[in-house]
Amino acid sequence: MNGNRGRASVRRVSILGATGSIGQNTIDLIDRDRGAYDVIALTGGRNIARLASDARRLKTKVAVTADPALLDDLRTALAGSGVEAAAGPAALCEAATRPADWVMSAIVGAAGLAPGLAALETGATLALANKESLVCAGALMLKTARASGAALLPVDSEHSAIFQALRGEHKDAVERVIITASGGPFRDWPIEDLPKASLAQASQHPNWAMGQRITIDSASMFNKAMEVIETREFFGVRPDQIEVLVHPESLVHALVGYRDGGLIAHVGPHDMRHAIGFALNWPERRHLPVERLDLARAGSLTFRTPEPARYPALRLAWAAMERGGLAGAVFNAAKEQALDDFIAGRILFTEMADVVEDVLTQMDAEPGLIDAPMTLDNVTRTDHLARQRARNVMAERAG
Ligand code: NDP
Ligand code: MG
Repeated sequence: MNGNRGRASVRRVSILGATGSIGQNTIDLIDRDRGAYDVIALTGGRNIARLASDARRLKTKVAVTADPALLDDLRTALAGSGVEAAAGPAALCEAATRPADWVMSAIVGAAGLAPGLAALETGATLALANKESLVCAGALMLKTARASGAALLPVDSEHSAIFQALRGEHKDAVERVIITASGGPFRDWPIEDLPKASLAQASQHPNWAMGQRITIDSASMFNKAMEVIETREFFGVRPDQIEVLVHPESLVHALVGYRDGGLIAHVGPHDMRHAIGFALNWPERRHLPVERLDLARAGSLTFRTPEPARYPALRLAWAAMERGGLAGAVFNAAKEQALDDFIAGRILFTEMADVVEDVLTQMDAEPGLIDAPMTLDNVTRTDHLARQRARNVMAERAG
């Protein structure tokens, strides 16, 4: 008995980024409670075998790969299943608009923005793992949700924690929001050794199992920097109300401080299925197959202030928030390009922050660029330009 009796209707769900870490955890929860969900659409990128086998097992209406060159492979893998195959960016957006009650946005990177917006336009509840959408275009996401009446739910563990700590409270009573960071694999390294950090070392998270890109972003704290911006957009708090604490145990995910001095903390296992399941079942709480914490065994919980010299990405997040407009789109795109180049071995670990800072400074100096209206077209154009600038900055550094 799993304690999940009593839901009145089957929830129609679609998963964007189904083949990734968040997508697979979402499918794991659905597989354990199959009668409660009807899966409409799954999307993936290059992992055709996984996409096709999940689509077959879950009997979805459609499966979409982001890569048009892989459409034939997907068709072959789905032959005889009755699942429709499609490919390419337009097909991703179309799949996101198939009638559903709940859509998981778990594509990695700015590529998740357009499909997430398309889902929001239908009025479906959007569970947002893709933090890049809020960093690049927070105001546009919220405006779209307001216009259609769609609910936007956080999936990032810190934001799910804030959301839960805010339940039943009045927003005006909030004084500050604190999000925690593990500090990554380099939290205790001598700072002067950070340029030597290898790709393999940066890809090992001390506490969480996640996709490679977010794992490296955790090592550099670019992930936390993005989450600071995400906090501002999601909860409408000012930049000066947000704090980051290094918490190596990763059990307290966030705290909300109220004007009477009280701090409400969210404590949970480091298992993304808690935050995913909370969003999947919201506004109900249903049984989830996650570890029940034994705090006596955990012993002590420790917290410290992040050192600015170790984590320059945090300073850049505050700079982007203070700048406003499309600075978040510039920040994200320059970071994505710098991350590609670190993964490819073209730049050092510590150069990622230098590149982002240079691109932000350059593009801020160009009249009208960052202050252009926040439309999907302008965000996309700014994203492409920032990636180009990041490549130029890297070429100059190399030359
Ligand atoms: P993964 O890299 O594991 O998965 C990414 C997914 O996106 C895969 O389905 C991948 O397909 C697909 N994808 C990749 N590129 C594209 C593209 N250009 N167009 C469309 N789809 C694409 O990432 P995660 O699951 O780790 O992260 C997903 C999102 O959730 C990110 O925004 C991340 O920041 C956020 N997040 C993740 C957490 C985690 O624990 N993993 C925690 C909090 C937030 P394929 O693999 O088939 O190529
Ligand atoms: Mg997080």
